[in-house]
Amino acid sequence: MSKRILVTGGAGFLGSHLCERLLSDGNEVVCLDNLFTGRRENITPLLDDHRFEFVRHDVTEPIVLEVDAVYHLACPASPVHYQRNPVRTIRTAVEGTLNMLELAREVHARIVITSTSEVYGDPEVHPQPETYWGHVNPIGDRACYDEGKRCAEALAVSYARQYDVGVRIARLFNTYGPRLYENDGRVVSNFILQALHGEPLTVYGEGTQTRSFCYVDDTIEGLVRLLASEHGTAPVNIGSQFEFTMVDLAKLVVELTGSRSEIVHAPLPADDPKQRRADATRAREILAWEPRVQLRDGLLLTIAYFRQRLQRLGVLPAGKNHGGGR
Ligand code: UDP
Repeated sequence: MSKRILVTGGAGFLGSHLCERLLSDGNEVVCLDNLFTGRRENITPLLDDHRFEFVRHDVTEPIVLEVDAVYHLACPASPVHYQRNPVRTIRTAVEGTLNMLELAREVHARIVITSTSEVYGDPEVHPQPETYWGHVNPIGDRACYDEGKRCAEALAVSYARQYDVGVRIARLFNTYGPRLYENDGRVVSNFILQALHGEPLTVYGEGTQTRSFCYVDDTIEGLVRLLASEHGTAPVNIGSQFEFTMVDLAKLVVELTGSRSEIVHAPLPADDPKQRRADATRAREILAWEPRVQLRDGLLLTIAYFRQRLQRLGVLPAGKNHGGGR
């Protein structure tokens, strides 16, 4: 049945993909974004759809909208962005979530809170199941995001317990795909852009740290299934179980772009988790969810996106396999 669904952070990387998906499932979508890290161009193609509505609003301010369900995504999520204004990041994670939980309570809407694998910090348990409480530095460079999201989870379960709000909590692991931002410092976008420009790929530290990367369509599928599930408030990891070192990722990007770029090493940022891999058993059991897109295939789609974008912006000559095609 068609629903009216609010997506906060709907003009962002994940949010815009989610808006598209919900519209194609036949829903009405209210996209709320303050365009702090979201981009208007991400949703421009959706504006012609009469079932799509854009509201420019900062989630740290209260708002009430008549909706049936909420996906709460609004928050800067890349280390470069969230560390630029850490106080604002905490306010967005905490006050923003509080306001959206209030909204859900008021209009009796089910709400998906998007948390993060960062709640596990630099994990001492590997891979990370939802039952692991984490190893977070509460005063480190990442604390504004990690602790903000941990508090958001605490708020969400409290609203469920105290006010019977229909809360679902997704812990999203590293996600990549078209519409990643070129300037937000994430490893996948950095490496692809560096390779396409024929510049050295900057591997931080030794490059032995690991992550598991999930293609955006798979992450969105997980979120949609989570909202629909009757499984309750216990958090669910949405992430790939395939783990890669950053050096291996760099080599793969060089191979897939056909670039002549070399790999160089740069200083490792503070509190950079040494290893991360989703234990996605719960998502498999409860949501019958499993990532479908292999890293190689997802990277090819993402590379094609960036190549086209750079050509459109006139940064790469059209048709040329830049980055030093071999
Ligand atoms: N990283 C890297 N080179 C880059 C950007 C990031 O080696 O140009 C590393 C970073 O140190 C981290 C991993 O890639 O170990 C993932 O970084 P990202 O910022 O994408 O996400 P997060 O650290 O939040 O998982």
